[in-house]
Amino acid sequence: MSNKHHTLLIVGGGAAGVSVANTMRRQDANIDIAIVEPSEKHYYQPGFTIIGGGAYTMKQTMRNEADLISDSIVWIKEYVQTFQPEQNTVTLRSGETVSYDYLVVCPGLQLDWDKIKGLKETLGKNNVCSNYSPETVEYTWECIKSIESGNALFTQPPMPIKCAGAPQKIMYLAADRFRKKGILDKFTIEFCNAGPGLFGIPFFAKALSKVVADYGIKTCFGHNLVAIDGETKTATFETTDADGKKQQVNKPFDMIHVTPPQSAPDFIKQSPLANAAGWVEVHDKTLQHVKYPNIFGLGDATSTPNAKTAAAVRKQVPVVNKCL
Ligand SMILES: Cc1cc2nc3c(=O)[nH]c(=O)nc-3n(C[C@H](O)[C@H](O)[C@H](O)COP(=O)(O)OP(=O)(O)OC[C@H]3O[C@@H](n4cnc5c(N)ncnc54)[C@H](O)[C@@H]3O)c2cc1C
Repeated sequence: MSNKHHTLLIVGGGAAGVSVANTMRRQDANIDIAIVEPSEKHYYQPGFTIIGGGAYTMKQTMRNEADLISDSIVWIKEYVQTFQPEQNTVTLRSGETVSYDYLVVCPGLQLDWDKIKGLKETLGKNNVCSNYSPETVEYTWECIKSIESGNALFTQPPMPIKCAGAPQKIMYLAADRFRKKGILDKFTIEFCNAGPGLFGIPFFAKALSKVVADYGIKTCFGHNLVAIDGETKTATFETTDADGKKQQVNKPFDMIHVTPPQSAPDFIKQSPLANAAGWVEVHDKTLQHVKYPNIFGLGDATSTPNAKTAAAVRKQVPVVNKCL
């Protein structure tokens, strides 16, 4: 239980929060550190792609949060609801407030499943799968291993998303499985991306275009998934032509892997810590908040221009610890 004041308070005990807490502890045995994290389970999310591809089990990506937080760090098993940076306090969902000398904000991002009409009703059945949730990732492999032919769609929403490579990685794993089973030619595989190209970095886009060609994958850029009807196995995309005119296009599918739209968590968007787009607004080089010098942010929740990945978190943790 919290003693209501901590020298260092960390919001979120995911990849970023746990790493900052444990490295700070290694640097200083005495500093008073607390983490606010509601979940008993910690997931190694990069492993979700491998579960969806059938080479990992859920157990291999899951740890007890308690086993990852050093005993000398206070774990407040709760949600932060609001921030009062002028008073150096946060308020928890229970209504309790916790004060701090320094605050690190890293609650990840929010998956906006509701932005795709009909998705919630059909996700996890009718061959509609997604690696983006621990509840549905095992179903991805069920779909890939049981389907024998037809249209296989893989979608990507507008940026930013966490792990911009993940929507394609699962497509290549699926195509490889179909090839190994000798049934690749029985499929039409389509990559339907809301964005304008295969990847934001031209060097990688060039290499990926060879992979796409090798598997015979069709690319549909400027295609944003807006609705799914699981019963009729129809996906609806919004497309925008050169004149900015929007149109709806229906595509039938036999399986579809959905990457959901993503944004900053609502409680961050509504907080004084957010920029206009909703992300925790920090300086790119120091990860210090632009308005509140005793607040730092890292991981998927922040405004920094890097890719939202665990790889980025790994590089950000030493920066936060040094600047703190
Ligand atoms: C399918 C998939 C594949 C990926 N593949 C890769 C990959 O190959 N390589 C790579 O580098 N990255 C990959 N990633 C991305 C990587 O997992 C994230 O970028 C990374 O986990 C971000 O760390 P984080 O700590 O910012 O957020 P998270 O790890 O998501 O942790 C956020 C934590 O904050 C907690 N939280 C949320 N709200 C609150 C609140 N109100 N109060 C307190 N705590 C809260 C959550 O419970 C959670 O534990 C992948 C992700 C997915 C989903």
